[in-house]
Amino acid sequence: MNNLFGKSLTDLKDICIALGFPKFRGQQLYNWIYKKKVDSLNQCKNLPKQLIEKLETEDYGIYYPKVIKVLEDKQDATKKYLFEMEDGELVESVLMSYNYGNSVCLSTQVGCAMGCRFCASGKNGKNRDLKAQEIAGQLVAIERESGKSISNIVLMGMGEPLDNYEEVLKFIKFTNENLGIGQRHITLSTCGIIDKINDLANEDLQINLAISLHSPFQENREKIMPIAKENHLDDLIKATKDYFDKTGRRVTYEYTVIDNVNNRKEDALELKRLLGDSIHHINLIPLNPVTKNKRFTDNTVNLFFDELNKLGLKSTIRKSNGSNIEAACGQLRNRELEE
Ligand code: SF4
Repeated sequence: MNNLFGKSLTDLKDICIALGFPKFRGQQLYNWIYKKKVDSLNQCKNLPKQLIEKLETEDYGIYYPKVIKVLEDKQDATKKYLFEMEDGELVESVLMSYNYGNSVCLSTQVGCAMGCRFCASGKNGKNRDLKAQEIAGQLVAIERESGKSISNIVLMGMGEPLDNYEEVLKFIKFTNENLGIGQRHITLSTCGIIDKINDLANEDLQINLAISLHSPFQENREKIMPIAKENHLDDLIKATKDYFDKTGRRVTYEYTVIDNVNNRKEDALELKRLLGDSIHHINLIPLNPVTKNKRFTDNTVNLFFDELNKLGLKSTIRKSNGSNIEAACGQLRNRELEE
């Protein structure tokens, strides 16, 4: 199917003109797709029947990722979605509701090639990159299913966004222009691909950057995240500081706390040495247990938070949304594939 979702206003006008209809029909089509978020041409009430027939003959349609499964954590209203893409691939997304608005965590790839040890998404490698409209489609499908309007996006689901650089960039611009979500409400989380962070700093964007840090020691980081071997920690910190200098956007360091691996006193002291003077924020993440990897306890995170606090390092503990519904990225898809 030629998916009309993902086309710009200019594209839609051009399609209408090419089919022998005036260009204002393109504007009407745009409003139905991006304002009303309909999922079928037949719902576009003010379009002439002949135009709808012509579009269908040319195999045009409106397609969003298909909802396969929804799990809801009643405690915090977090919803986890399993989507099927047009080619049958499965991806996951999460909807989180806060008092400041609704946030979605979206996938950028099917699977992930980075192989971080604590992450279920990378367990079976990467199948393919997602297109910009497939990333945006997750958001609209969530809005349609939940009836909630989304104000914030984190690209922290399945996949490494900077390993799908061009499509992610298109997604950011597309979302901004067509779905009305400002760049300052978008956070891109990366495991730390330095040359792409440098490229991103030059794109004149206003998005937030989150770095998966997880250890302040090169050797330990390499054990947790294989990608760290080619992306040395000192160079990574320099790249993130450059990103801040160029964009003015604060960088957050994501730190999944793994007991006896990265929450020792020497880890805190090394973090202080590494980030001490920079404008930084450390986001401590309780490790969501992945199958056969149940190392996390509540107290583990609290004690490390206190340690950082004593050293004057700014940090918060991420609220563990959806802990009752396998919200850690990749878990739901893996289970579905196993079944
Ligand atoms: S943490 Fe992110 S980059 Fe690492 S394997 Fe998981 S999805 Fe990929």
